[in-house]
Amino acid sequence: MKVFVINSGSSSLKYQLLDMDTQQVMTTGLVERIGDSMGRISQKNWPDTPQQANIEEERPFADHHEAMHTVVNLVTGPGGVIASAEAIDAVGHRVVQGGETLFTSTCIDDAVVAQIRANCPLSPLHNPANLVGIEVARELFAGVPQVAVFDTEFHQTMPAEAFMYAIPYELYEELRIRRYGFHGTSHRYVAQQAAAMLGKRADEVNLITLHLGNGCSMAAVRQGQCIDTSMGMTPLAGVMMGTRSGDIDPAIIPFLMKEKGLDMAQIDDILNKKSGLKGICGMNDMRDIHAAAAQGDAKAALALSMFVYRIKQYIGAYYAVTGPLDALVFTAGIGENDDVVRGRVCAGLAHLGIEIDPERNGGRKKTATAVQAESSRVAVFVIPTNEELAIAQATQAVLA
Ligand code: AMP
Repeated sequence: MKVFVINSGSSSLKYQLLDMDTQQVMTTGLVERIGDSMGRISQKNWPDTPQQANIEEERPFADHHEAMHTVVNLVTGPGGVIASAEAIDAVGHRVVQGGETLFTSTCIDDAVVAQIRANCPLSPLHNPANLVGIEVARELFAGVPQVAVFDTEFHQTMPAEAFMYAIPYELYEELRIRRYGFHGTSHRYVAQQAAAMLGKRADEVNLITLHLGNGCSMAAVRQGQCIDTSMGMTPLAGVMMGTRSGDIDPAIIPFLMKEKGLDMAQIDDILNKKSGLKGICGMNDMRDIHAAAAQGDAKAALALSMFVYRIKQYIGAYYAVTGPLDALVFTAGIGENDDVVRGRVCAGLAHLGIEIDPERNGGRKKTATAVQAESSRVAVFVIPTNEELAIAQATQAVLA
């Protein structure tokens, strides 16, 4: 079975074609700056032969329709990795917000499209972009089953005590204001991998999963089910991130509006794009921050310490609710590559049974690796996430 996975953002389109029989990625690509005067497409194929050369090209893409047309031609046309669009058995779409109506991955029909659209107010940046991808794909792959896989679905098992905010109940009833959580496909994928590494069934394990990339979120997993997660109604909440603040005192918002005369759009921009690591030290790539801190940049060192401290706080909070912990699982750009952050997050947690082995922890991890010390009661895993494979697997499962 060949599954085409589409992750459509507001100005980007990420795609991957997977052969599920061999679990082989046939092609993976990214279109960037859709709608700008100049865009970019990059595509890597396997095997990389002269007939199926990799692509790196600067060119404008007027809209998602044009981007998707180009991609489909590149993947299925002459010189593409497969002969025709008919050879694709299914299309899997990442959809960010499933809200309270779309609990699990589901076959896309007009009714599902309408529900995804109805959830746009909850995710105004992501769901409209996901919908554009769906609409164009339904047109270009007419007759091919399409499946929506939601970022929120792994978190649907959270109990009300975890997902409700302590604000008037009517606001939940009227506007569905509650914690939804994101990165669910990644948390679920690494949780399943962790269970396999522990030699247990997925429903037997208690875990804390840490998705630490440019966006960061953590999840508390009890007996394989998510019982809490750090992102909230939006991906702004929780731990500190590259450019997002994470949790702050909500009263800071009216205070800023009053003192600085800012409007909602300006506050939104500050909290989403000018905060987090970037807000503290002007940089949001952890590699730059390490380099600056090593040169004596005090703000870079502070940003790093704040980042680590907040993650530790969430580990403590989740440790209290998961029950006896089997493993701590690091994933995504920072989680997979940054041994210093992993080491500092785990430092001083021996009283919780968490001890890292500095040698095993050293370096970037391209494959799933156990990095705990022999004496550690809790396993510490670094597991590269693979959201595209997880979406393709979910697509296959829905169609089965
Ligand atoms: P992601 O959103 O999962 O793609 O993660 C992107 C982030 O991972 C970047 O902004 C960096 O902060 C971080 N990152 C990537 N490679 C490394 C590395 N070798 N060392 C430290 N951080 C890294």
